[in-house]
Amino acid sequence: MDIDANLIEKMVKQVLNEIDAGKAEKTAAAEIKKEEKGGAYGIFNTMEEAIDACDIAQKQYLFCSMAERQKYVQTLRDVVLKQENLELISRLAVEETGMGNYPHKLIKNRLAAEKSPGIEDLETTALSGDDGLTLVEYCPFGVIGAITPATNPTETIICNSIGMLAAGNSIVFSPHPRAKDVTIRLVTMINRALEETGAPKNLIVTVMEPSIENTNVMMKHPKIRMLVATGGPGIVKLVMSTGKKAIGAGAGNPPVVVDETADIKKAAIDIVNGCSFDNNLPCIAEKEVIAVDRITDELIRSMRENGAYQVTDPAVIQKLADLVRKEGGGPKTSFVGKSAIYILDKIGIQAGPEVKVIIMETPKDHPFVMEELMMPILPIVRTRNVDEAIDLALIAERGNRHTAMMHSKNVDKLTKMAKLLQTTIFVKNAPSYAGIGVGGEGHTTFTIAGPTGEGLTSAKSFCRKRRCVLSDAFHIRDFSKGL
Ligand code: NAD
Repeated sequence: MDIDANLIEKMVKQVLNEIDAGKAEKTAAAEIKKEEKGGAYGIFNTMEEAIDACDIAQKQYLFCSMAERQKYVQTLRDVVLKQENLELISRLAVEETGMGNYPHKLIKNRLAAEKSPGIEDLETTALSGDDGLTLVEYCPFGVIGAITPATNPTETIICNSIGMLAAGNSIVFSPHPRAKDVTIRLVTMINRALEETGAPKNLIVTVMEPSIENTNVMMKHPKIRMLVATGGPGIVKLVMSTGKKAIGAGAGNPPVVVDETADIKKAAIDIVNGCSFDNNLPCIAEKEVIAVDRITDELIRSMRENGAYQVTDPAVIQKLADLVRKEGGGPKTSFVGKSAIYILDKIGIQAGPEVKVIIMETPKDHPFVMEELMMPILPIVRTRNVDEAIDLALIAERGNRHTAMMHSKNVDKLTKMAKLLQTTIFVKNAPSYAGIGVGGEGHTTFTIAGPTGEGLTSAKSFCRKRRCVLSDAFHIRDFSKGL
């Protein structure tokens, strides 16, 4: 075989360039590690050191004014929103965890930085009457221990940091070990910017080697006054059993119901877009479709025209299940957050770039319906009517009371589903992400606290309410108690 010498030279050059790029990347990572050892910019070798430093920071932070808090929160937003930083953390999050996709991480990180409420969330209540004036103010808890998931590693740190700092707290982050490096990068980036703006050092800290052991040390540490866990049911249960104030943002399995009154084409597009967002990693993303029989064919046709690949052969559906599920049930970590094209490829199906979601009809009790998979595999179940669909949605949601969607124009049935499922987020006629402020009104958060009831967390969720009473004065409406 005759190979063109120029072509060989070109290929060798390309390989050498790639090796050089790899070296540069490694050197940067090594440099960061060197710089961060010993507590620089909030990164500590041990959890105890991290907590002690964060405790000192919190005490100093108490002396900062609301204007200063506002400035620091803005600094945090600005540093994350700097394009090169936004691109870096989004790219690293995908590379390190092997989950999700870069363009959607960019959107989520930007969303967290822009739409997580700051100090404006802390509205003081004033009660005045014959007995004087009483104020109820949102005050800091102190040092918060925040446990963050592998699925939204940077988004959660950004929105937690904004809310918790706005509320006057300092924060110890205990991230998922799979997201260690990107967390270190982000915490360093934020701390450096905060310090440059004059904020106390170590307002946000983490450890060099996150681990379950370190999380346990943090949960038990007396200086940690509040715990916030964003993750699966295990960690939520753990923080709730510590005896400390705990916020638990746990798992969901959001159903989407489509009835015969819906705009079917819009429903199909919304469902495909919501389900495929960041490869289905968000806990709010559409996980199963329950459709009224009369419109199911049309819905499937529309989904296929808008980025869905339909698997019809039961043997292939089984092959898919064997591929992505563990023997004892639940998703295999190696498939969580992977793209539809990647998953299809593993069962020998080559799909084009337009494919975002894999759909199939299944019975109502199929594991794809009942388990939170966090990958763009979307089962569709037919029901005879909308009431049956709502009943099944209630079962499929598994009592998480997290998120549900419905596409319908029937106000009575929309109301019925909202009432019955009692989810923290209920989205009508839109993709799931409308529930966190993308194409829907309201602030954003990546910590949706169903189990402990705070709902879509914001600065005030991370506060203690304190009452301050002034007897007989500053009630200025009348002279009944004299002038
Ligand atoms: P995960 O539960 O495996 O891990 C979450 C965090 O808890 C990580 O930091 C992990 O290190 C820690 N952790 C887990 N078990 C622990 C233990 N026994 N002791 C100490 N620490 C422990 O979840 P994940 O894969 O990172 O995230 C996905 C899950 O989180 C999904 O179930 C998803 O629905 C949920 N989630 C919920 C929300 C929400 O706002 N409600 C947001 C994002 C993710």
